[in-house]
This record gives sequence, structure tokens and C-alpha cells, in this order.
Amino acid sequence: MGNQRATSEPDARIEARRQDTGGAAHVVHPPLHLGHDTRLIVAGPDATPLLACPGCGERLAAIDGAVHAYVGASSACWTRFAELSTTLPGAGTPLRRLVTDAYMVQHPGVPERRATQSVGVHLVALCLVLERGLPPDALSATLQRVLAQPPAWRWLEPPVPNGPLTMSDLATAASLPPPALHDAINGYVRGVWESWAVHHDVVARWVDACVASR
Ligand SMILES: [Zn+2]
Repeated sequence: MGNQRATSEPDARIEARRQDTGGAAHVVHPPLHLGHDTRLIVAGPDATPLLACPGCGERLAAIDGAVHAYVGASSACWTRFAELSTTLPGAGTPLRRLVTDAYMVQHPGVPERRATQSVGVHLVALCLVLERGLPPDALSATLQRVLAQPPAWRWLEPPVPNGPLTMSDLATAASLPPPALHDAINGYVRGVWESWAVHHDVVARWVDACVASR
């Protein structure tokens, strides 16, 4: 319990706490329900308690560890993301820089001001690179300008499922040859963005508003 601490953006890669997930698994407070079954279930021959992540739906060991103030991820999923944020190789794909944006969109949390803005900013990031061709290297500076004059963010109902791949897929791919890891990273980022297709027109208007405000 002692390592639990709420973290905040903008740079979750730095602020996210690393957590040892190898200890005895136990948890008592499932996250808020958000489209996925977050009830504790017992599975496997060792009866390890599992918990479905409220964002990606991945069922991972139920641990009592680090959580984020408003990113809707189970502790185990958040811990895995924090580790991969620093250890995942780039495999030659520029979309490696978008893994954090995709993760935040995949774990939107619940409708409240900070979560709404976070999801909005990260959706704009995905749109700028994947649809508008902005070089990922230019993303940070562009997003600073977006935050300086933001559009009128509003909560968008997250899709279910929220992307076909999860951090577990990237963790598995991390040990594969670069071409396979390259494809996994691209598949993760593009998969999350495509799952939000019903909201792409709204995000496009946000992007246009940001461009017009400069
Ligand atoms: Zn998750």
C-alpha cells in the first residue's frame, strides 16, 4: 500500500511510478466500471485474482499498487505501461512516440474536467500525426500551442472495445525482432485511433480550431 500515489500528466512517462508486480497479488477496490467487466475473477491453476482493466479490458493480476489520478487504468496495466514507456524499443517506427497518446486515449477514465481535457489533447495528437501528417518530432511543440489556446473540449463516449491491442501485446512484442515489434507498435497506435472512428469528425474540428487559432 505504501507505494500507492496518484500521478498526473502531462508527462506520465516520467511521473508514472514503477511497481514490482511480482509479489503476492491482492486488491480490494476495483476501479470504476467503464464499459468493461471490472469484477474480480479467479482464474488459472494458482487461483491468482485477476482484474479487468477499465480502459483496455485486459485481465491482469489484481495488485494494490500505483494508480493515476484520472487515467482509467488498473494498477497492473498502469504499471506495465510505466515500465514499457521507458523500456520499449522504437523498432524504427516514428509512431513509437504516440504510444503514450494512444494509451491515454485507451484509458479515458470517467467524465470529469481533467480526464476530458487529457483525452481531447491525446486524440488531437493522434489526429495530427496519423491524419494530418505532422512529424511526431514536432508534436510536443504543437501540443503546447494547443494547450495555450484549447478548443472547447467535451467528453466523448469511449468505444468498446477501445483498441484491438493492449500493453500486454507490446510487452510480448518487445522481445520479438524489430519488424514484428514495429508492426505491433503501429498496430497498437492505429488500432486505438481507429476504434474512435465515430468521434473522428469531432476531433478534426478540434484540430481545425487549434490551427485556426494560431
Ligand atoms: Zn489497461
